[in-house]
Amino acid sequence: MSGARPDPAPKPNVLRKYRRRRRAWNAWFVVALLLGLYYSPVLLERHIMPAITPLVPGSNVPPRGVEAAPEPLGRPPAGTGSGSFRLQESPDPAQDFVAYDPCRPIHYVIRPDNSPAGGEALIHQAVAEISSASGLRFVYDGPTAEGPSKERDTYQPERYGKRWAPVLLTWSDPGETPGLAGDVGGLGGSDYAHVPGHPFVYVAGQVMLDAPGLVPILAYPGGPELIRAVVIHELGHVLGLDHVDDPAQLMYGDGNNLTTLADGDRAGLALLGTGACVPQL
Ligand SMILES: [Zn+2]
Repeated sequence: MSGARPDPAPKPNVLRKYRRRRRAWNAWFVVALLLGLYYSPVLLERHIMPAITPLVPGSNVPPRGVEAAPEPLGRPPAGTGSGSFRLQESPDPAQDFVAYDPCRPIHYVIRPDNSPAGGEALIHQAVAEISSASGLRFVYDGPTAEGPSKERDTYQPERYGKRWAPVLLTWSDPGETPGLAGDVGGLGGSDYAHVPGHPFVYVAGQVMLDAPGLVPILAYPGGPELIRAVVIHELGHVLGLDHVDDPAQLMYGDGNNLTTLADGDRAGLALLGTGACVPQL
């Protein structure tokens, strides 16, 4: 036994792997953005609601204003003053950015399949960080059997009741979610809806995590913090953040080893917590 020479420290390997994944996300994101630009109008049409006509049974949108409070449920913290963030492109040139309605809670569900031990706790911690940075209130609705899908319906009354579908987080894999193929570690984003005459609002979202790629990292020192940062990064996309070129931010598109939100990320999330309340949706 040649015990004098220790095995290489695992952490650098983990970090190299992590950086590769983060770079790959950037590549993914370019593709996703293009898909979004070209296919969102189709999705959008499915979710447009009539401005005045009451909803009728069988309509593919929920009743209006479910859980809508007259005021935002929370307030984002004071801005950090950083300009180092980027918001997802708005579909309407007259609207600066799209956000979730702050007058309602954002519900989320987790599919437990393929989850590592402690995986659910990491997700809740990531949600708590995103929530405190944005002032948006999140409510956990428990586990779900729903799987991820690029064509996910934002209204599933049989499964979730007569309201917009919750944000779905899954520990998926490339077989189930082809977008996770290669070195992609995670995907995240939201769908918006629109009533003519009112702002576009995010109503449902998804985070797909690449379980085969990410779970082994949990065993390394600092691994759980890195995976939690992946979830925070994806939830940043869900709330409306885009990648930035600043490597000091968690939303940096080319990868870094941050484990928490930085000042630019926080400034962006604080802004995204100030979206319009739209009870007409
Ligand atoms: Zn990303």
